[in-house]
Amino acid sequence: MDIQRVMVIGAGQMGSGIAQVCATNGYQVILHDINERYVQKGSEAINKQLKRQIDKGRIAADEVERINARIETTTKLQRAEEADIVIEAVVENMEVKKTLFQQLDEFAPPETILATNTSSLPITEIAAETKRPHQVIGMHFMNPVPVMKLVEIIRGLATSEEVYEKVEEMAKALQKVFVDVSDFPGFVSNRILMPMINEAIFTVYEGVASPQDVDQVMNLGMNHPMGPLTLADFIGLDTCLYIMETLHEGFGDDKYRPCPLLRKYVKAGWLGRKTGRGFYVYE
Ligand code: NAD
Repeated sequence: MDIQRVMVIGAGQMGSGIAQVCATNGYQVILHDINERYVQKGSEAINKQLKRQIDKGRIAADEVERINARIETTTKLQRAEEADIVIEAVVENMEVKKTLFQQLDEFAPPETILATNTSSLPITEIAAETKRPHQVIGMHFMNPVPVMKLVEIIRGLATSEEVYEKVEEMAKALQKVFVDVSDFPGFVSNRILMPMINEAIFTVYEGVASPQDVDQVMNLGMNHPMGPLTLADFIGLDTCLYIMETLHEGFGDDKYRPCPLLRKYVKAGWLGRKTGRGFYVYE
């Protein structure tokens, strides 16, 4: 069975991007979130992105109409019964994802693939919540999804070769470059990126330099396109904290201890761009 219908769970920055890229490449998409307001926000983000593409002359207006026509929205998880693959992109929290996968396992037909866009959580542990661990897989898109080329495909301990191959085919159809990764905390991307971001936060916490100067060093000194604190604000500081906690717990090594300043910002609700304040202030 070929993948034709995709259900995306979570209409936040990643879920809306995944829905857009799937619809752009011909898939029928059902975009889900817990309430109408969030679903609406996701649709608006997609429209804004596509409009920008029209303005830049990269896509025609009638093509955008066709893309939009392929995306339906819902707040009913039961609609997983229509999907060939479900791609989950809700908050980076194990308990939330476990409950969701138990529900999806109930609603989705037995042959449906259940994929997660988790940045760091063990695929094997999420898969163990279902009766189909061989059909659970990690599909880790990068942010912003329509722009970034890479997808990490992560095999859980039980993921079947057949499911891996189907997801690989889908990544190709989405015009992404993929890498084959096994299931260890943070996979490849966040195992390397997040300790750097955490160290940048420690550098501010210890008064070594301001956020602007830390970013300047990495931007101009190391040729990184974006400084680590700008990037952290872009990713979301709550997501950064969850990932550091996963690395800390998963490897049991204090070199992954989340910086207390990161915890403090998250407790204050300073989550970065999405809340208007993080290491920087956004109007
Ligand atoms: P976000 O906060 O922008 O969006 C999360 C969305 O999930 C929200 O709209 C929320 O209402 C919804 N949600 C929460 N619980 C839900 C549930 N039970 N059912 C349905 N919807 C629910 O977060 P995001 O940045 O899009 O991250 C989502 C996932 O993608 C996380 O696992 C994160 O680690 C991963 N990820 C994030 C990035 C990044 O740069 N932000 C990159 C790659 C992967």
